[in-house]
Parts: sequence; C-alpha cells; structure tokens
Amino acid sequence: MRRKLKIDLHTHCSEAAGFVGPDIKVVSRIVEQAKARGLDGLAVTEHWDASFGWVVKNVVEEHFADAGLVIVPGREMTAGYTHHLVELRLPNGTTFKFLAHPNRSVELVDGMRGIEILNGMHDDLNQDLVLELARAHHLVLLSNSDAHRLEDIGRYHTEVTIDDETGEWLIADTTGQLVKIT
Ligand SMILES: [Zn+2]
Repeated sequence: MRRKLKIDLHTHCSEAAGFVGPDIKVVSRIVEQAKARGLDGLAVTEHWDASFGWVVKNVVEEHFADAGLVIVPGREMTAGYTHHLVELRLPNGTTFKFLAHPNRSVELVDGMRGIEILNGMHDDLNQDLVLELARAHHLVLLSNSDAHRLEDIGRYHTEVTIDDETGEWLIADTTGQLVKIT
C-alpha cells in the first residue's frame, strides 16, 4: 500500500527552540507544532550537525510515539554563497540530498535528487530557475518551511508518497510524476 504524507523536509528545530538541547519539553513543543500544522512528519536539519535531529527522533520514538510523526534526521551544509545542500537520512536508510532555496544558477552536487521550489525563509525564489534546473537534472520539487521559529514549522510541506512494502519514498517531479528517491 502507498500512503501520502505531508512532511516538512527542512527545519531548524534547535534554533527554533532557542538553542536548548532536544529534551522532552523542547521535543513536545516541536511535536505539538507539527501536529497543529497537520504534518505527518518533519526533517530536523540543523546547520552542519545532524546529531540534534537524531536525538529528536529518539525522543519522539520513546515518548511521543502516539503522535505518529515521521522524524527524519538531517543537516544543512553551505558551500559558498549560493550553495545550500540539505542531506537527509530517510527511515529506509537512503541518503537524500537536495538543494535548498537556490537564488541563482548553481553547480549541482553529485547525488542531488531534489530542489526547493518553495521555502518559507526565502519568498523570493527564482522559480523559473528552479524549474529549469529540475528539468535539466530530473530533480523532484520540494516545499519546505526552513523554519527558524517554532511557529514556522509546517508553513510549507512536501507531499511524500511512501510505499509501505518497500519503504521507498516517492516525490513528484516537474511533470507531477512520482520519482523514487534512491
Ligand atoms: Zn535552512
């Protein structure tokens, strides 16, 4: 069976929570916000360091399993001015890399599979450029909050289709066709 989930794949929960550790109280606020927005999951993508995301995932699994949220640990890396690369570790073990909020032509990094067409922190995205890059490199399109405040978590979300049997993730490309994230 395939399920359609609403997942915000780019959030800075550590910054949003005021740089306190991912303890139960902080994680409960993140979970509450995600549920209030109707999310089925979120990726936790602090700058450079994925460890905050892994702790959030563990705390959610241990204390908030009833929420039914998929937590995806990840990190955002910067190279130069234009290059913001988000790297996620999907529940099926796949590493999923995508380009965050491009604002000019960029060199694509090897293994990049997606690109943001909407980003809550950058309302000025050049969508023509995004579509051009997505078509040229067959990237899936993503809409994410890039939240740096708790209330912004879930401002945008990406529709992710998950195949329950294989655990595969599928996301739409520029033509609306679902592409397997491998
Ligand atoms: Zn970001």
